[in-house]
Amino acid sequence: MSGRATKGGVCVLVVDDEEDIRETLREAIELVGCTAAGAANGAEAMAFLEAERPCLVILDLLMPVMTGLETIAAMRRDPALRELSVLVSSSAPSRAPAGVPVLPKPIDIQRLWSHVRESCRCGSARRHTRERGLHPPLATEGPAPAGERDAR
Ligand SMILES: [Zn+2]
Repeated sequence: MSGRATKGGVCVLVVDDEEDIRETLREAIELVGCTAAGAANGAEAMAFLEAERPCLVILDLLMPVMTGLETIAAMRRDPALRELSVLVSSSAPSRAPAGVPVLPKPIDIQRLWSHVRESCRCGSARRHTRERGLHPPLATEGPAPAGERDAR
């Protein structure tokens, strides 16, 4: 159906039925230098994974068509997908299967970033971190700490 060949481009696949959350996560992930793609449910995610191998799949649990748990089960049955890193992102984190890391909703962006960096094998997160210093730009608007202001 899609003839798009985005070879080796996508670092993180965000699977969530809520478009707002998908977009927020994608924007946050792109701040650390990684390319992110979105899928609205597990079936879309599995179709995506036939063509691409991201470094990380971030998976909501409660979705129509194909839930996160069904998606994890399907990935584990597929030898080509078994090794993929999965991060469950859910407002019901206790429902995540054992052994799968969980990012509770509402999402802590710092935790998201550190998980993306740990999981990234294509190098885009690390390269970005080196170029930009220790921290990605933050959405916080507070004044700079006094020490930093005086240093300049
Ligand atoms: Zn990557």
